[in-house]
This record gives sequence, structure tokens and C-alpha cells, in this order.
Amino acid sequence: PTAPVFSPALSDEEGPRLAAELFREAFDAEPDGVWYAPGRVNVIGEHTDYNGGLALPIALPHRAFLALRRREDRTIRLVSPQTRDAVDVLDLDAIGPKGTPGEVRHWNAYVAGVAWALEQDGLGPLPGFDAALYSCVPLGGGLSSSAALECATAVALDEVAGLGLAGTPTEPDDAGRAHLVTACVRAENEVAGAPTGGMDQSASMRCAAGHALELDCRDGSTTQVPFDLAEAGLALLVIDTKAKHSLVDGQYGARRASCERSAELLGVGLLADVPASALPEALDRLAASGDADAEVLVRRTRHVVTEIDRTRRLVDLLQDGSPLAGAKLAEVGTLMNGSHDSLRDDYECTCPELDVAVDTARALGAHGARMTGGGFGGSAIALVDAGRVDEVARGIVAAYAEHGFNEPAFLDATPSAPAGRVA
Ligand code: ADP
Ligand code: MG
Repeated sequence: PTAPVFSPALSDEEGPRLAAELFREAFDAEPDGVWYAPGRVNVIGEHTDYNGGLALPIALPHRAFLALRRREDRTIRLVSPQTRDAVDVLDLDAIGPKGTPGEVRHWNAYVAGVAWALEQDGLGPLPGFDAALYSCVPLGGGLSSSAALECATAVALDEVAGLGLAGTPTEPDDAGRAHLVTACVRAENEVAGAPTGGMDQSASMRCAAGHALELDCRDGSTTQVPFDLAEAGLALLVIDTKAKHSLVDGQYGARRASCERSAELLGVGLLADVPASALPEALDRLAASGDADAEVLVRRTRHVVTEIDRTRRLVDLLQDGSPLAGAKLAEVGTLMNGSHDSLRDDYECTCPELDVAVDTARALGAHGARMTGGGFGGSAIALVDAGRVDEVARGIVAAYAEHGFNEPAFLDATPSAPAGRVA
């Protein structure tokens, strides 16, 4: 079998250079600066965000770089390596949500949408701008290339429009960043038309290097949780399945609808209001509710409530101050495995590619492995000894070949820094 292909992260020098070069080529001018924002992987806490639960993402070393220059009018001009021959031109006064005459095409929605959302939020009027995007976050791999775009735009506009919300990379203003996150979420929901829950943008904007971010999606509060993998001799291997599944459109919305229906039947605002101790009784009530989908609602609810509990327990383990080794490491792995199994069996949002990646990683000695992100394709993660990354990746390549799957790609997920400006 062929050797595993790792997607490298652009360095602090390379990323800004490529974005600035593209800017000069397209606009024949110098950008005011280059800003960046990372993709993310979620360690645990999946499909909990829209239920008001906990998630635990890290920022990837893989980032979107945006070279940007403020304009004195209300025009937006955008270019990326995919569109370098044709610069897209938009008018800040004409853009609007999806389904309206101001609808914005393809990736422009994630950039122009942030400007629109900031103005909707009363932070305008903003200046127009020219921007060149260069990103190494794999697109559509469940690693939030979309949030990386939005957050890079948000920190750039924050600075050129003088909003003063983001702070600096060394002294980030967390409350201000939480504010920018809401604009990014609104851009994704309303302008791009993707009903995602907010974890991605919070991770890209509010993570810290060497840490995972405990995110309470009920109120947006966060805690930095020590997660220094290199120090522990560990690595978090990301497997981008490259799986393309049809018929998954609408599945995300269907899961959200099931959760809302369950909460309604249980008389709670959000499923996060059901503590793990009250789960058996809640499941009995759902089973006896007479709802046509009662059996499905039971399983969806069981996933959400147990997943929030697993996330809380994993955070407690990481915060106890002892090295990530021995019985503690085994327990972290067990919680990650439990998450995947629950997503596979109760939430039914895995797919054969995700299950094979996870099963293979476990068989090759991963401490824990699970799908990450929304599921139905996208990526899986495996917590492995640093010295065994290549062996696990090779095993997965071989297993994929055996199953006739697309060849997967791999990333090394070092917990990295949040969105900011290139020095
Ligand atoms: P994910 O966020 O998991 O990568 P999404 O479907 O949410 O997947 O976002 C992918 C979309 O983001 C793409 O379809 C594209 O519109 C936009 N996008 C992300 N990165 C880039 C890029 N480097 N160039 C152009 N568009 C991009
Ligand atoms: Mg996305």
C-alpha cells in the first residue's frame, strides 16, 4: 500500500507570504496586513453545541490566511487560488442573507457575510476591502475551513475598521472575541445558509496553544484546559476520510429537529438541562410519549446526555494536574471511544469510512479514537503515542485500500493558537 499523505500546515512565514503574493498579483497593491484563523478538531463533545452542552475543541496548526486592505468605498473584492483569474466584486450595500436578492455566492458568503453580520450587529458602517485568501485547512473535511475563513475575516475587519474587539495574539480580549464569534456564526447561518451551532467559530477565535477549550454552549463561557500532547509523548492524528456521501443533506437538520422535539416532550428548554442522573427516567418518558419517532428520540437523547457527561469527565481528568499517562490516559481513551460508539449507534451519524478509521486505529494501539465534527464523512481522530503515528496511519491507508474507499489524508493536530494578525 502507498505511504500515508500528511497535509502540512503552512508556516508563520509561508502562509502570509503566499496570501500577500496573491494579493499583490490580483490588486497590484500592498495589503494593510495578513490575518489568520485556524481550523479545529473537537476532542470530545459532539452534537452537543446546539443542545446547550459542552464541547472540547482544539485549534489546528492549519490556518486560513487573509491578506486584506481597507478601501475608502463600500466595495468588496475577493480572490483565492481557486478564483485567481476572476476577482469577485461585491457591494456591501447590496449583500444579504441566503434566499434574498442580496444572496452571496460560494466562499464569498463566509467573508462578505461576516461584514454583513457585523453591520447587522450595529458595528457599522464598515469600510469596503480587498482581500486574498490562502488557506491550508482541508476544505469540507469536517475541520472547519469555513469557520477559519469567517474568523480570519473577523479579526481583519476588527482591526482595519477599528472595532477593537479582538485584542492582540499575546493579549486576546476574550469577551470581545466572543462578540466577534456571534457575527461569524450569523454569517454562516444566515448568509452561507449552514445551520451550524457555534463551536467551530469559538474554537478558531478563543482556543490557546497547548490547550483544549472547554466550551459551555449554553452561555458561551469557556475554560482553558491543559492539553500539551508533545509533553506527554502523544499525538492527535486526524484522519480526513475524503468520504463523499450523497443523501446526507438534511441529516444535520433532522438531528437538530429530533433534539428539539425531545426537549419539548421532556419539558426542558435544551437537552443539556437533563442531568446524567435523570437520564433513565427521561428515556422512559420519551419511550412512553406516544410520539411516532419515540424510539429514535430515545437514542438521540441518550447520545446527547451521555456525551455531555463524557465531556465533563474528560475535562476533569485533564485538569487534575497529573501527567497524561497510565490509568488516566486509558480513561481518556475510553471516554473518546465511548463517544464514537454512541455517535455510531445512537446518533447514527458515522459512516463506514469513519468506523473503519476508528476500528483500525484502536486495533493498532490508539489510546482512543472517534469521529469528530458533524459526521457522515469528514474526519476522525486517534490519540496515539507520538512514535506510532506513522504505523497507525499506514494501517488506515491499507484498510481503506482493502475496503475500496478513497485514499484518506492525515494531519498532525498540535493544539495551536487562535485567530490573530501576522506580526
Ligand atoms: P468545513 O468547514 O468542514 O471544511 P464547510 O462545508 O462548512 O466544510 O465549508 C467548506 C466551504 O468553505 C467550501 O465549500 C468553500 O465555500 C469555503 N472554503 C473554505 N476554505 C476555502 C478555500 N481555501 N478557498 C475557497 N473556499 C473555501
Ligand atoms: Mg464548516
